[in-house]
Amino acid sequence: MASNFSGALRLTDLDDFITPSQECVKPVKVNRISGKTAAIKIEPDGSYFQVEKDGLETKLEKAQITLNDCLACSGCITSAESVLITQQSQQELYRILGENNSLAADGKSKRKLVVVSISPQSRASLAAKYKITSEEAACKLTGFLKKLGVDYVFDTTFARNLSLLESQYEFIRRFTNKSTKGSLPMLASACPGWVCYAEKTHGSYVLPYISTTKSPQQIMGSLVKDYLTRLHGRTPDEVYHVTVMPCFDKKLEASREDFFNDIYSTRDVDCVITSAEVDMMLEGEGLSLADVEPSKLDSLCNSDTEIVNHAGGGSGGYLHHIFHHAAQHLFGTKVEDMQYKTLRNRDFKEVMLEHEGEVVLRFALAYGFRNIQNLVQKLKRGKSPYHFVEVMACPSGCLNGGGQIRPTDDETAKDLLERVQRLYSDVRTIRPEDNTDVEKLYVEWLGGSETEKAKTMLHTQYHKVEKMTNALTIKW
Ligand code: SF4
Repeated sequence: MASNFSGALRLTDLDDFITPSQECVKPVKVNRISGKTAAIKIEPDGSYFQVEKDGLETKLEKAQITLNDCLACSGCITSAESVLITQQSQQELYRILGENNSLAADGKSKRKLVVVSISPQSRASLAAKYKITSEEAACKLTGFLKKLGVDYVFDTTFARNLSLLESQYEFIRRFTNKSTKGSLPMLASACPGWVCYAEKTHGSYVLPYISTTKSPQQIMGSLVKDYLTRLHGRTPDEVYHVTVMPCFDKKLEASREDFFNDIYSTRDVDCVITSAEVDMMLEGEGLSLADVEPSKLDSLCNSDTEIVNHAGGGSGGYLHHIFHHAAQHLFGTKVEDMQYKTLRNRDFKEVMLEHEGEVVLRFALAYGFRNIQNLVQKLKRGKSPYHFVEVMACPSGCLNGGGQIRPTDDETAKDLLERVQRLYSDVRTIRPEDNTDVEKLYVEWLGGSETEKAKTMLHTQYHKVEKMTNALTIKW
């Protein structure tokens, strides 16, 4: 069955998919009558009836399966797609904007504050399609979304500053405390395709190695649903937060229980739409992004919003920043030039730091399912020589995500990817530690970098998923 999720989720193993003849089943509660279970009758049209002892039949309501009901049985990635697509789609954003318009018209009820956070990878994909620069794409997208009724448009690069800084601090903690099981190698956590695969197939062995730092999307979720709501005197459920991302796996990430607020029954990210889905919105409105009136991006800290980027490639630059920070902090070495060595293929590279004739840091990039499998096998055999690995599910990383805009007939996928990579990199880079707004947030919002609040807002946890093989695919 075709899927838009990353290869790591699609290729894991055949049990991961429900074949067309199978169905996702949610167990129903059956009342017991005088110690005996009531009978269930199934009509040819698929209706269920509960048959009481006296023969009285009650038609049971059709179950609506939502993501909250998901058993995470590892058997439904494919079937969950349809649920995800209805719960997290551009139609949902339009529905909320429509509701807001009606509420504004009746003048009594409070409308929701609608916030959209755009990833730099999506911006580059849209810039490539409309042959404009990344900066133009950011401003034109802001103009487009504001016209639709969106209140704030942010860039998730801002949240990535916090994600990179926290990853740097976490690496130093793990490196200097090697006695803890699962300290090293630290494995990057920003890719939900990889995290989901690890939870389902390698569980308790691999999970302790995965960095607990939240991804930029989920840190943006904390910023919007905690920091911004307080600034506006709103509760988290009064804000509708949408992110624009390069892959469908980010929809799964936003749906995780760990990012659900039980008190207000709301998520840190309510809806994820992909770059291609934004493009469908533009097409639906009959617009070319190139012709849209631009508007300035918003800033969470009311400062100037220059479009900036981080060095180290299209997947966020985790390896790059942690390597530089660790070299300086642990060995007093300022890294001027990073020399990557390509190993098995261009998606598996390593870089080392030598100090006093010894290799003291050994980092790797492992992109795509094949390289991830290889890495995990090495880890399991105790043969991984690495201190940190930037693991990403998509070959070539996030700029090649499954939610990016596909090439047209007159351009190959390779050529389009090269253009997207150029557009993504053609923006001034900054070091996360040089952003004064981030520094201010650590003090004003989190009360410091090692506080409980910082831990809650910037870190998460992972859960081993017990494999439940369904009856048709069970191997005896
Ligand atoms: Fe999404 Fe990036 Fe992971 Fe691909 S590599 S699944 S685009 S987060």
